[in-house]
Amino acid sequence: MRIPRHRLLVSITASAALVAGFTLSVDAFGSAGHRVIGTLAELHLNGTRALKEVRRILPPNQTLADAAVWPDTIKDPIYEDADTNIFKLRHPAHDTYHYANLPFQAERYALDVPGARPTDIVQTTREAIRVLKNGKGMFSQREALRIVAHLVGDIHQPLHVGTGFISSSGPLAFVEPTGPTGWRPTLGGNLLVYGPENRFNLHSYWDTHAVNITMEREDVPTYAARLYREVKPSPTWTSSGDPDSWPAQWATEGLAHSREAHKGLRLVSDLGPDEARRNAHRWAIELPSDYDARARPVIRQQLALGGYRLAAVLKAIWP
Ligand SMILES: [Zn+2]
Repeated sequence: MRIPRHRLLVSITASAALVAGFTLSVDAFGSAGHRVIGTLAELHLNGTRALKEVRRILPPNQTLADAAVWPDTIKDPIYEDADTNIFKLRHPAHDTYHYANLPFQAERYALDVPGARPTDIVQTTREAIRVLKNGKGMFSQREALRIVAHLVGDIHQPLHVGTGFISSSGPLAFVEPTGPTGWRPTLGGNLLVYGPENRFNLHSYWDTHAVNITMEREDVPTYAARLYREVKPSPTWTSSGDPDSWPAQWATEGLAHSREAHKGLRLVSDLGPDEARRNAHRWAIELPSDYDARARPVIRQQLALGGYRLAAVLKAIWP
């Protein structure tokens, strides 16, 4: 949910959706996963005080699913609503709140690991939780709720915390960036490309393609209800201690998912700069033949977990 839009995939998905008669929103690219998590969280919150607070904070008729897509929707420079201008004025770098770039080899998330920042995904989620709890901080209540609803989803995606770095000399390999040189960043897989004319990238694979193949043809409410019925919370889903420490715990789990997501990838060649000359390097990769089969259960689990934990953090804020 960072760089360019996966236009070919969008058009394929959209035409498949039209042919099959399903409703998929094309403009809200990559939004299905966020909407599932918001919808699922509302199922977990049914009848709670937390859900009443959510309704009070959001505009009339908006749901947690709507809240969860807002931080991506506003990346579109053309989109505006009554809340966008002031948010963008105060947060010109809001698109950088969605991720951290820790090497996937890192054992745990911490602010002193390279790639973590004071406004990365973990620190921004913490701040938004603090705003919802205490009523003050760098966001309004409504902004904070939308940010928590969105970033809890992003943090459970495999490539929003842990990323690969590639050797800058010798054979192409994923390396740990231990010194100031000798490596290059792949930006959460955005610079790892594959497919016809290298149109697809690994980041979009996980944010969109993997979600689509996991949901198959079900729409968001149906799929969220299925997860609610079929994936039962396990004790390992419960975060320990103060909610302030939960985003870092989730990010540490995410590093393990990022390691898995990089396993078996073949680094084919260094393609050099992209056409827009925004990045000095991109790399062609090949996905292992069982990659989709490996991705589906991961996504299913992470969507279920994201919805459960979004509800859990809101219940902790409003017991
Ligand atoms: Zn995002």
